[in-house]
Amino acid sequence: MNKQSQHARLTPHYDVLVIGGGINGCGIARDAVGRGYSVCLCEAGDFGGGTSSASTKLVHGGLRYLEHYEFMLVRKALMEREVLWKNAPHIIWPMRFVLPHHSGLRPAWLLRLGLFLYDHIGGRKLLPATSSVNLQRDEVGKPLKPLFKKAFEYSDCWVEDSRLVVLNALDAAQRGADMRTHTTVARAQRTDGQWRVEMEDTLSGYRQTVTAGVIVNAAGPWVDGVLREVFGQNDVRNVRLVRGSHIVIRRKFAHDKAYIFQNDDNRIIFAIPYEGDYTLIGTTDAEHGRDMGKPEISTEEIEYLCT
Ligand SMILES: Cc1cc2nc3c(=O)[nH]c(=O)nc-3n(C[C@H](O)[C@H](O)[C@H](O)COP(=O)(O)OP(=O)(O)OC[C@H]3O[C@@H](n4cnc5c(N)ncnc54)[C@H](O)[C@@H]3O)c2cc1C
Repeated sequence: MNKQSQHARLTPHYDVLVIGGGINGCGIARDAVGRGYSVCLCEAGDFGGGTSSASTKLVHGGLRYLEHYEFMLVRKALMEREVLWKNAPHIIWPMRFVLPHHSGLRPAWLLRLGLFLYDHIGGRKLLPATSSVNLQRDEVGKPLKPLFKKAFEYSDCWVEDSRLVVLNALDAAQRGADMRTHTTVARAQRTDGQWRVEMEDTLSGYRQTVTAGVIVNAAGPWVDGVLREVFGQNDVRNVRLVRGSHIVIRRKFAHDKAYIFQNDDNRIIFAIPYEGDYTLIGTTDAEHGRDMGKPEISTEEIEYLCT
């Protein structure tokens, strides 16, 4: 055997190599290994350590996307909602959302129409339908300003987002995927009809080369950085980075329902019961620039969420 074929024998080969262990990367790895492909996933930090543990933690159809006529997107997401709930009821559970009507903002008939669509386009079977709420009588009206008189209450689900990532990673590993944490993909080159990939264990410094038939770039907000640094593509600008921040404050209301408030800049803000003693409020929508360090909320964003 010559040196080249000896080397090829020692180099592990995978059908699919996934870069990034967020919900997309782990979900893709799980799906691919379930279809019989050999899979390796490299996550630079820990599973779910990126965007996937800093979400608003909703399994939802995205009510506000209806305003942008994204009916198919909302339908698909709503159809997945009860599937996910059924698959993982220990980390996903139904939550009622109170949407107060605010005179001067979206009219009540428009809210009702949107929620009628939301109830019916996604094959909802088990979650309760939308209902009207008199805020002067119902307990959900108590923490609100008296100017709010009427609201609608609809269903979505809450998820422990990081656990959903880890459960996908675990299941992929149990099905035979090679799931690596603290492993950065440093370089990928296409040679002889396959990818040659260099990776580094960031704890031990151990570097390894593997080959792969297909690479999936599931690096979330780092996708462009991966294209530049790993694939050597210059000046890639596919994504515009927008930061959505939350604040966590002491519990603001006693019941277990969430609020979705309309803001006068046309955005919506959630206030969600969080970890028993707290309320999670968010999000903002701030330009993030190209600095990929740990994102932090700015004073302006805190003020925006508090007013
Ligand atoms: C504020 C906010 C709220 C949201 N709320 C919701 C919500 O309520 N419900 C919902 O469904 N969605 C929500 N989303 C969207 C959802 O969170 C994201 O779409 C999802 O988490 C993206 O997952 P990802 O796997 O693509 O990226 P990430 O979770 O960011 O994963 C990418 C991973 O790639 C890794 N990586 C980067 N470079 C390399 C490399 N060279 N080698 C190896 N690994 C690398 C990173 O370490 C990171 O862990 C929200 C998003 C935001 C920002």
